[in-house]
Amino acid sequence: MYTNVCKHCYKVFKSRIRTFTCKNCRQIDDDHFDDIEAYLKEYPNSNALQISEALGITAYEVLNYLKEGRLHISKGKFEQL
Ligand SMILES: [Zn+2]
Repeated sequence: MYTNVCKHCYKVFKSRIRTFTCKNCRQIDDDHFDDIEAYLKEYPNSNALQISEALGITAYEVLNYLKEGRLHISKGKFEQL
């Protein structure tokens, strides 16, 4: 079992796989992820701060998608901050 901290509501919860999102926030997570993906398609050279400002998602959250390995930057250069 892993002890995880939800990146949306900061709730501490346990799960069998390592994850950054609790069950309650799964929908928010998917919505934000879709937004980021769409944004990067249009502006492939954005960094986490620009995405954060454009979409109203914290830079911390954007970076977490990278850490989770969900966000793949195919084109351009993705600067962490
Ligand atoms: Zn949560």
